[in-house]
Amino acid sequence: MSDEPATRRPQRRASVRVRILASILVVTALGMAIASGTAFFVQREVELQEVDDHLRTTAQRVEGIVTRMPVADAAGDSAAEQPPAAESTVKLLESIMTRIPPLQHDGSIALVDAAIRWKPPTAPDIDLSRDEDMLARMLVETEADGAVIGTVVSPELGSLRYLAMRVGVEGDPAVGLYVTAVDLDAELNDVDTAFTIYALISIGALALIAIVGWFVSGRLLRPIRRLERTAARITASDLGERIPVVGNDDVSGLTRTMNGMFDRLDGAMTAQRQLLDDVRHELRTPITILQGHLELLDPEQPDDVRATRDLALDELDRMARLVKDIEALARADHADLAQVEEVDLEELGAQVLAKVSVVPCRQWAQQLRATGSALLDPHRITQAWLQLADNAAKYSDECTTITLGSQVQGGELHCWVQDEGQGIPPEARERIFERFGRVDTGRGVRGSGLGLPIVAAIAASHGGRVELESVPGLGSRFTIVVPVRTGAEERTEG
Ligand code: ADP
Repeated sequence: MSDEPATRRPQRRASVRVRILASILVVTALGMAIASGTAFFVQREVELQEVDDHLRTTAQRVEGIVTRMPVADAAGDSAAEQPPAAESTVKLLESIMTRIPPLQHDGSIALVDAAIRWKPPTAPDIDLSRDEDMLARMLVETEADGAVIGTVVSPELGSLRYLAMRVGVEGDPAVGLYVTAVDLDAELNDVDTAFTIYALISIGALALIAIVGWFVSGRLLRPIRRLERTAARITASDLGERIPVVGNDDVSGLTRTMNGMFDRLDGAMTAQRQLLDDVRHELRTPITILQGHLELLDPEQPDDVRATRDLALDELDRMARLVKDIEALARADHADLAQVEEVDLEELGAQVLAKVSVVPCRQWAQQLRATGSALLDPHRITQAWLQLADNAAKYSDECTTITLGSQVQGGELHCWVQDEGQGIPPEARERIFERFGRVDTGRGVRGSGLGLPIVAAIAASHGGRVELESVPGLGSRFTIVVPVRTGAEERTEG
């Protein structure tokens, strides 16, 4: 047994262009073959039918001469003239041979007592006397019925459809045999020629379809090839390139979708790199502080050891909080993880207020007016709302009032936290929503700088945003705004 490689490169199949073209050609060729084959066989049947009709008419005419009925001429017009009575079989055959001359592709012959007696006066297209064995067989065949219409393949004369009839005159013991035959090959020659011409034209048409199809499919597939080349050039390290969108069709739609995918990938990679840079930067400070203090630590001095221990625990605590916040931010960034359910808005507000009111030395007021229900992730919204309340407590003085409010307005749920703290300077209002974006408050309060980005990510995962109104020195109001969707709406849309 040979060892199979773990990953086998898929065998390259024929290109789409070749496959499209091959399918078109096969279907077209099949259609042409079926149409021409049917036409060929129908036409052949018609020709054979005509031959049989001709032989049957000839049989009737021979019968007419034998029984002395008025005879129709070669053109089929009936003649009033009654054939004279024949006194012998030889005479009768002479009369038949002269009255029924062979047509084109025909041959006829008369035998008396198995010997050739009459050939047509005009040279026939086929000379039946050349195959005497065949004539002998016909003589035998007609023994029972007197007249036979049949097909024979003669080595000398080819395929023949023939009429063999025994004729005789009462009182004459001689056995007369009249034979007339049609050359089937010559008769069907026109059909065969027409079919050959049709086949040649079909091959020409297929060749033309192949050439035109090759260029047209190449032209149509060109944007896809361009798409493939550009997509191959775009790598994880260089996601900057975009595929040019040409025209407005399925391919340009695909190009736009792929460009959108590259945008998202680019955004995700940049955000990841940024996060790594930020985390590296944030961890550097506590590590440096810890390292510096541990290096200077005098193990003989219990006071020194205690102070360094407290400081180390404090820094480690900060690092642990940082890691927790990074984890929370990563979770909030995944919009698809939101566990949406029908939430009673009044109850949600009451729960958040109950949780924050245990924070000491602050007066908690409420403006909760939102009622009814909405589709939300209650845990995430609570987390974001509590984060805003925590910030409000952190960045305002003791004994000031912090107000929690909620309201449904214009199809949106507003959940806010308003404080009477120091406010945020206008130039910092964008920065504080960025990761690790902090403002020096001069209060010695130092957070991770990830609280507001987490709030913004939670709002975004609900299709919403965070609004900020702030007057430096008087206070701030942070509002989470998310669109209100109810379960009933969702069901109607679904
Ligand atoms: P952290 O509070 O951990 O530093 P945040 O992202 O929660 O990080 O806040 C970013 C910055 O925004 C804070 O450093 C602070 O300067 C400012 N800030 C947040 N909330 C308030 C508030 N209620 N009042 C004044 N400043 C605030």
